[in-house]
Amino acid sequence: MKKVIAIDGPAGAGKSTLAKRAAEKLGYVYIDTGAMYRSVAWKVLQEYRDSKFTDADIAAIADNLTVTLSYENGSQRIAVDGTDVSEVIRTPEVTAIVSQVAAISSVRRKMVVLQQKMASNGGVIMDGRDIASKVLPNADVKIFLTASIEERANRRYKEMKEKGFEVDLAKLRDEIAARDKADSEREESPLVRVPEAILLDTTNMNLDEAEAAIIRLAE
Ligand code: C5P
Repeated sequence: MKKVIAIDGPAGAGKSTLAKRAAEKLGYVYIDTGAMYRSVAWKVLQEYRDSKFTDADIAAIADNLTVTLSYENGSQRIAVDGTDVSEVIRTPEVTAIVSQVAAISSVRRKMVVLQQKMASNGGVIMDGRDIASKVLPNADVKIFLTASIEERANRRYKEMKEKGFEVDLAKLRDEIAARDKADSEREESPLVRVPEAILLDTTNMNLDEAEAAIIRLAE
């Protein structure tokens, strides 16, 4: 039977990389929900490049846009109003405002409807912050994936460097900590580990070990 697997956890814990790899092995669809909030944040920056915006401005933008997920050789692509934004949603500028965007109830409502629809036929691994608690409370497998803040900052540092971004490790660590705090303390669907979620701490695991652990849990 094709299952529904929910993976939650803080920023930089390796959720996307691992969920994607596990989905390939299992023949499941991987759904990256962070990309959906990032795509709204990207659109906000397009419209308010150098000017200030309020939560109401963000809500209005989210209300009027269409986010579409598609798959190309097993990789998720994401588009906003028909424009592919899969790469541009990963910039530090988008990352800096995404938690503000994701804290807005109407934005979340719209994204959660899409996420639930996509998971309705099973055979999916979905990652995010509120998947087990809110989006897919009946998921067959719930995993809370984490790693120490130092390890998460190191991994993100390497990833950003490889993509050609100039990054400072200490600053990156502070940004990750600030994003975790915002995501955990917000009122609407905060990042939580539901009691039934299995804790997977990958601080001392390499990718292969962490992937094997997820596959074991999934099976
Ligand atoms: O997973 P990623 O780091 O790309 O997520 C970006 C941001 O999107 C998170 O910091 C969080 O604010 C938001 N998010 C969320 N709920 C989810 C997935 C992501 O609030 N299910």
